[in-house]
Amino acid sequence: MLNDPALEAFRDEVRAFLAEALPDDLRRAASRATSVFHDPAVSLPWQRILHARGWAAPDWPAEFGGPGWSEIERYIFTAECARAGTPNLAPMGLKMVAPVIMHYGSAEQRAHYLPRILSGEDYWCQGFSEPGAGSDLAALQLRAVPDGSDYVLNGSKIWTTHAHFANRMFALVRTSSEGKPQAGISFLLLDMMTPGIKVEPIRTLAGDHEFNQVFFDDVRVPQANRLGGENEGWSVAKHLLTFERGGKYAPGLMARLAGLRAQSVADPVLRAQIEREAIALQALQALELKAMRGVGGSPALYASALKILGTESAQRIDTLACDIAGHAAWADTDGQVPAELAVAVPRYLNDRAASIYAGSNEIQRDLIARLMLG
Ligand SMILES: Cc1cc2nc3c(=O)[nH]c(=O)nc-3n(C[C@H](O)[C@H](O)[C@H](O)COP(=O)(O)OP(=O)(O)OC[C@H]3O[C@@H](n4cnc5c(N)ncnc54)[C@H](O)[C@@H]3O)c2cc1C
Repeated sequence: MLNDPALEAFRDEVRAFLAEALPDDLRRAASRATSVFHDPAVSLPWQRILHARGWAAPDWPAEFGGPGWSEIERYIFTAECARAGTPNLAPMGLKMVAPVIMHYGSAEQRAHYLPRILSGEDYWCQGFSEPGAGSDLAALQLRAVPDGSDYVLNGSKIWTTHAHFANRMFALVRTSSEGKPQAGISFLLLDMMTPGIKVEPIRTLAGDHEFNQVFFDDVRVPQANRLGGENEGWSVAKHLLTFERGGKYAPGLMARLAGLRAQSVADPVLRAQIEREAIALQALQALELKAMRGVGGSPALYASALKILGTESAQRIDTLACDIAGHAAWADTDGQVPAELAVAVPRYLNDRAASIYAGSNEIQRDLIARLMLG
């Protein structure tokens, strides 16, 4: 992928740092995680180590505390982290709300929130979906009624990942019922400790407590916590969703596949499936590098296409891991079974959600059709 001495030197620097700085207990916990959303008990200590090195937010511009890397350097960093088995940092703060605070936030909002996201002092959750508004997000009904200098919020959000850990939420709320549904939405930054907020757990198919329903009962949020204009939250949300979807999937999936290949699989059919997936991942990586260079399509088009290809590949790898693990997937009583196999079944179950969250893959196909065919 490289063929460039400067990039090779950069890769070696990152690799040496990761070998030195990643504690064994965090690497082991990450290898046994059953979800892409690692618990903050695992992700935050690693974020603090990266922050001390100035590398917690590779995508951020240098003026806000990013390392000032080029696109290809960021890709190399992601690939090296996957190779080393680092914990995943929570994306809600660093990758989702931070870019929109940079773009739409006032000077005060930037100065207040961005350093706290970088250090991990604030842990964010995303309050978009509601019981009656998922794919059709513009149907959201959580009311925010102006009262003095505040809004008063009533309603609920659902599927809110890590709301039980978060001290902050970014939320879409309804501030008007006039005109098109998209026209009456505002984007708020709120404190999860505000009186009137209640977080109720929802268990996933895999048995994890990863997401929640969050209830709002006369919750007062200062109007000063709005990002962007009143009733202009839809533009902020669309901007954010491009960052939520526009991931780098191939490096992590290649590392997972390497873990399966290392199991010396005897069955020729399974071996052939591993190699077929390896080829699919090379194609995905080529597309990710093309997206990074900004050639051949808009960021929104790439974001949707990569989301579909990345999550479908992840689900095929989950199935392969279960097939390779066989009985071992159920028999890891003493921690002796390699992590790739020991967590194969819960990962398989958890990853069913990958084609649903961040906008379902059917919706991504609709978006691609609209962008390409008009
Ligand atoms: C693990 C997980 C974590 C999540 N975390 C968060 C979070 O932190 N914050 C948050 O706000 N939300 C979160 N979500 C919610 C997620 O964004 C929604 O589940 C998703 O947008 C789909 O909405 P829905 O569940 O209401 O399904 P629906 O919109 O009811 O869709 C049901 C089915 O119909 C299909 N469908 C719907 N409309 C169309 C159409 N026009 N064309 C073709 N097919 C269609 C969908 O693809 C889907 O298969 C999370 C979801 C999961 C599974």
